This record gives sequence, C-alpha cells and structure tokens, in this order.
Amino acid sequence: MNVLVINCGSSSLKFQLIDSISEKVLAKGLCERIGIEGSRLVYQPEGGEKEVIESDMPNHSKAVGMVLDALVNEKTGVIKSLDEVGAVGHRIVHGGEKFASSTIITDEVIEAIKECNDLAPLHNPANLIGIDACKEHMPDTPMVGVFDTAFHQTMPEDAYIYGLPYEYYEKYKVRRYGFHGTSHSYVSKRVSEILDKPYDELKTIVCHLGNGASICAVNGGKSVDTSMGLTPLEGLIMGTRSGDIDPAIMEFIANKENMSMDEVMNVLNKKSGVYGITGFTSDFRDIMDAMAKGDKRAELAIHVFAYRVIKYIGAYAAVMNGVDAIAFTAGLGENNSYIRERICNSLEYLGVKIDKSLNETKQDEIIISTPDSKVKVLVVATNEELKIARETLALLK
Ligand code: ADP
Repeated sequence: MNVLVINCGSSSLKFQLIDSISEKVLAKGLCERIGIEGSRLVYQPEGGEKEVIESDMPNHSKAVGMVLDALVNEKTGVIKSLDEVGAVGHRIVHGGEKFASSTIITDEVIEAIKECNDLAPLHNPANLIGIDACKEHMPDTPMVGVFDTAFHQTMPEDAYIYGLPYEYYEKYKVRRYGFHGTSHSYVSKRVSEILDKPYDELKTIVCHLGNGASICAVNGGKSVDTSMGLTPLEGLIMGTRSGDIDPAIMEFIANKENMSMDEVMNVLNKKSGVYGITGFTSDFRDIMDAMAKGDKRAELAIHVFAYRVIKYIGAYAAVMNGVDAIAFTAGLGENNSYIRERICNSLEYLGVKIDKSLNETKQDEIIISTPDSKVKVLVVATNEELKIARETLALLK
C-alpha cells in the first residue's frame, strides 16, 4: 500500500508518497507560498528530475489538488490513479493530553484536535486545513493523525508540571508537552537496533538539533523528559527561538523597548536564538563560515548553543540515573561535526570518548564513539515521514 504523508503548515505543504512495503519514497515535494502571490509546487519523483510548477494556489485545497495531479501525471507521475493511495498520514503538531498515540481521523478526532488549537495556534489550524483539503479530494481514503506531542505523554508529572499555580494546569492544561516526538521516537528506536540492545532496557539521550531543536531523555523506550514545553519555545537555543530565559526579561524588554506582549513574543520566536546572537543569520552553515573568517559573534553563537546542549545532556543523565547512548540527529546534529565534537568533549565525566575521524565521516547512521567509550555516541538521520507512514499502516492493519 502507498501512504501519502502530509505535513501542512499555514502557507506550505510538504508531502511524500511512500510505498509501505519497500518503504521507498516514490515521490516527494513541497507547495510553497499557498495563499500568497508566487506560489509554486516543487515535485520530485523517485529517480527523476526535480520539477518546479509555478501556479496560483489560493488555498490548501488547490495545493493538494496539484500534488495529486502531479502524482498521477502521465509523464512524471508515479501512480496510475488515486486508488493507489491507500491512506494519508498527517503530521499534527499538538495533541495536548488527548492523544498519547497516533489515531485514525474521524469527525470526533477532528473536534478533539480543534480543542488543542489554543495550545498551538500557529500550527494546529494549518494541520486541520490539510486534513480538510485531503478529505475533499479523497473522501473515501482513510487518514491517520500522528502527533508531535504523543511520544512525550509518558513523561511523569515531576517532569511536566510547571512551578505555577496548579489551577492553570487544571483550567487551561498549562504544562510541559514537548515536540519532535516522531523524531525522538524514531531515532531512539534506531539506536537500540543499531546497538542491538533491547529498546526497553536502554537509556538514550536524543539531541534533535535543527532549526528547531530539542533534547529528549528516553528511558526504556519511553520519553521521560524533553526540553520543549507548553510550546516549542522552551529549552535549547534554536535558529531564531530563545529557548529558556528568565521570564522577567519579557517585562523588562517590553518596558525598555516600548513593546506589546505580542511584539516581545515575536522577538523570542523569530529574532532570538543564534540569529539574535549573530545579528545576521539563523543558518549554521553561514555561522560556521563567518566563524572561520574570525566573526566573534558567530563563534559566540555556536558556543552558547553547544553549552546549552551540554547542560541538558547532564540534566538528562541525572534524570535517568545514567545514560547508555547519546544520538545526534536533524540538520545540524547530522551534518555539523564541529558542534558534535564540542559537545562530546565536555562529556568526559560520563565516559564519552569519540573517534575524531569517525565523527568526520558522513554517513546516515554511524557510531562515532570509540570502542572503549562507556556511553555510545551515534549519528542517526531522522526520518519523520517514514515513521508517520509506518504508524499509518500499523493503525489501518
Ligand atoms: P528544520 O527542519 O527545523 O527547519 P533542519 O533539521 O533542516 O531544520 O536543520 C537546519 C540547520 O541544519 C541549519 O542551521 C543548517 O545550517 C544545518 N544544516 C542542514 N544541512 C546541512 C549540511 N548539509 N551541512 C551543514 N549544516 C547543515
């Protein structure tokens, strides 16, 4: 069966069509600037040329229609008819406390997702629009929702309750949720397979370091703590997000700069992180180049970023009373050996020793620690789409 995996944002839609038996990606792509002038579909069939189709996409329904047309297109398509799409798997950002696992999408489920909109006002409504658009074009095709928060629903109260009046949790469900769950779950499982150790006996720390970044402590296959909170703003320093700060800074800056709460939030989400520190970019490739040319703020940004990761790894080793494996994943975790080395050099006390030449080796999955390292260190390329396709298939079976 082929599963169409959809990751729908407010103005974008990423997709992959995955053959669930061979787990091959038959086609993938992205609709950009939906509802904005200059919209386009970037479409890439397996083994074929990437194609850019510029066309008006006033809404997500039109975008889904274009994706489906491309998939069945006589020349560049990869299937003959839409009957060959057996199911659709949707990435959904926030499942609140309602969803501890993936679920088949029904009208009741859609209502329950809507009830979580408050918690992720930028993401959940867009995810729901994606579901609606797919239903319009494929009313009889089963759909599954896979939640970024679900994997972390195993966190104990100790880890998810904030030091705030308890009534905010009772009334508004203000608590820590965590995100990137699909990635943390996929990578921690791969670690157990690569190391050939039972998943339910392993203590793993997964460092998902991308533009958005989070760390997760996985004890015996269960998330027991993670760095993001009620929203994806908490935790590590990210591309443009501040991560943990003293909450009093918000009022202080609002007063000094004469800003509203909305404006301060915008700064914390979009103008902070390594972008805020360097003053010019959120992309670590630019930051590495600038550092090589002697830019001190670029160097500072990298080092502040790595320092926060080092702190969280120490915290999570403490939370689990030990750690067997540390895995690096996502754009930066997979590709930036400098940051991995800088982080691992501070973990000697845990018994971490990395092999410098293995750390420089570019491979999707690789153990970069030395054979005598007490803690195994790995690079594991994440694959959230494959995980969504697998979950979709599992539920429909
Ligand atoms: P997100 O999915 O959260 O947008 P990614 O996981 O794609 O982010 O990570 C983006 C970061 O990873 C950027 O800072 C980028 O510089 C870095 N990155 C991505 N690919 C590479 C690469 N091939 N080499 C070095 N850095 C990379």
